[in-house]
Amino acid sequence: MNALWQSVLGEIELSVSHATFTTWYKNTELVSQDEEELVISVPNIFAKKQFEVKFNDQVKKVLAKNGVEPKRITYTIIVAGKKTRINRETTLNSSDNADNLVSSSATASPLAFGRPTSGLSVTGNLNPRYTFDNFIVGSSNDLAYTASQAVAANPGMKYNPLYFYGGVGLGKTHLMQAVGNEIIKNDPNAKVLYVSSETFVNEFLDYIRFKKKGFSDKYRNIDVLIVDDMQFIANKEKTQEEFFHTFNFLHQNNKQIIISSDKPPRSIPTLTERLRSRFEMGMSIDVQMPDFETRCAILSAKASLSGVELNVETVEYLATNIKTNIRELEGALNQLLAYAELHGIEPDITTAEGLLGNVRHSRPQHLTSKQIIDRTSKHFQLSSEEMCSEKRDKHIVVPRQIAMYLLRSELHLSFPKIAGELGRKDHTTAIHSVEKIEKAIKLDFVIREQVASIREKLYA
Ligand code: ADP
Ligand code: MG
Repeated sequence: MNALWQSVLGEIELSVSHATFTTWYKNTELVSQDEEELVISVPNIFAKKQFEVKFNDQVKKVLAKNGVEPKRITYTIIVAGKKTRINRETTLNSSDNADNLVSSSATASPLAFGRPTSGLSVTGNLNPRYTFDNFIVGSSNDLAYTASQAVAANPGMKYNPLYFYGGVGLGKTHLMQAVGNEIIKNDPNAKVLYVSSETFVNEFLDYIRFKKKGFSDKYRNIDVLIVDDMQFIANKEKTQEEFFHTFNFLHQNNKQIIISSDKPPRSIPTLTERLRSRFEMGMSIDVQMPDFETRCAILSAKASLSGVELNVETVEYLATNIKTNIRELEGALNQLLAYAELHGIEPDITTAEGLLGNVRHSRPQHLTSKQIIDRTSKHFQLSSEEMCSEKRDKHIVVPRQIAMYLLRSELHLSFPKIAGELGRKDHTTAIHSVEKIEKAIKLDFVIREQVASIREKLYA
C-alpha cells in the first residue's frame, strides 16, 4: 500500500520546492485505501488544513496518474508518538537544510529557512533565503503575494512601481527580495539592485560631497531597482530630487521599481508632490499582521524546517501571545527551540510559557535605573546631573527622552517612577517621551542606532 504513496510522493517531490516538500509532504503516510476512500495521515492540524485547501488537487491528480481514483480523499491527523523531535541528524544531512543553516540572514537566525535559489549565482545584495516558496500566504498578505508574483513574472510591465507599506517585521523585505530572487532565477542576466534607502542616501551624499563618480551609472544601468524603507529619504530634499530623476529614467525605460515604506505615499508629509504622485502611479499594498491561522502556519513551517515538530497546543500558544509581528514570532520560536535543545527538554507549551513569561516580566536582575541613566548620559557626553536637571536645551532633551524610553523598555518601570528617576514630578512627560522615542525609532535611523548602541552596552 505504501509503495503507491511512495511513488506519489516521489512524483510530487519533483514538482514542488524542497521547502514545500519538507514542510508539508514529508511526514505523510497512506493509512487505508478502498474504492470509496483513501486516507492519508498528516502530522498536525496545520498540515491537514494546507492539504485540504491547497494541495488536495495536486494529490488527486498524481493519484489518478497512478491509476487510483477514490471518491474521496481524507486527511487524518496522526501524531508521531509522544516524542516530538524528528531526528535532527537526518534533517541536517540533507544538503538543502545544511544550506539553510549557513545562509542565515543578518539577524543570524539559526532557523533561517528556505532554499538558496542557487548557491553560486551572483545575486548581488539579495539574500537568497527570501523566496516565494517559504513565504506563507494568508488573507492578510495574499494581495501582496499575488502582485509580487505578477511583477516577478513580467518585470516592468505591470504595477510599476510596486509599493509595499506597513509596520516592521511583517514581511516587506522578504517579499521584495523574493521578487528579485525570482527574476534572477528566470533570467540570470537580469540586473537587480536592492538597496536600503539609507544606502541610497549615503551613496548620494558621497557623490555630492566627494564628487564620487558612478552614482548615476550604478542606479540607471539596471533592470530592477528595489529600495527598502523609503521613509528615510523623506525630509532629505536633495536626495528626493535625485531619486525622482532615477525613478523617471528607469520608469521611462520600462524598468521595474519596487519600494517599501512604513506608510502609504500620501501619508509621508515630507515627500515632494512630484515623487508622491510618481509612487501613486503603480500599485500600493498594505502589508498587515497575519491572522491567527497564518501565524500558526508560519510557526509550524519554520519549526518543522529546523527539524522539530511542535504540537498544536504550543504553536497556538505562541500564535496567541505574539501578535506584534513575524520577526518577533520567529524570535520567540528560535528562543524556545534553542532553550529546549540546550536543556534537553521538549519545546512544549510548558517550556514556552516559562520562557515567554520570562521575557515579559523579568529582565536581567543586575540592571538598574541608575545604570541606564548613566549609560545614556555617557553616550551623549552629558553628566547624569544634567540629565536629571530642569534644563530644556535640545541636546539634553532628546537624550533624556531616550533614557525614559529605556527605563520603560528594559525595566518596565511605571510612568510615575520613570518621571521620578529623572527628577520630574509630572508623569505625563514620561508617557510623552516614551511614545516619542517609540515613534522615532521607526522613522529615524539615527535615533534607532543610538538606542540600539546604548542598549547593547547595557547588556555587554
Ligand atoms: P519587514 O521588512 O516588513 O520589516 P521582514 O521581511 O524583514 O519584515 O520579515 C521579518 C521576518 O519574518 C523575516 O525573517 C521574514 O522571512 C519573516 N516573514 C514575514 N512574513 C512571512 C511570511 N508570510 N511567511 C514566512 N516568513 C515570513
Ligand atoms: Mg524590512
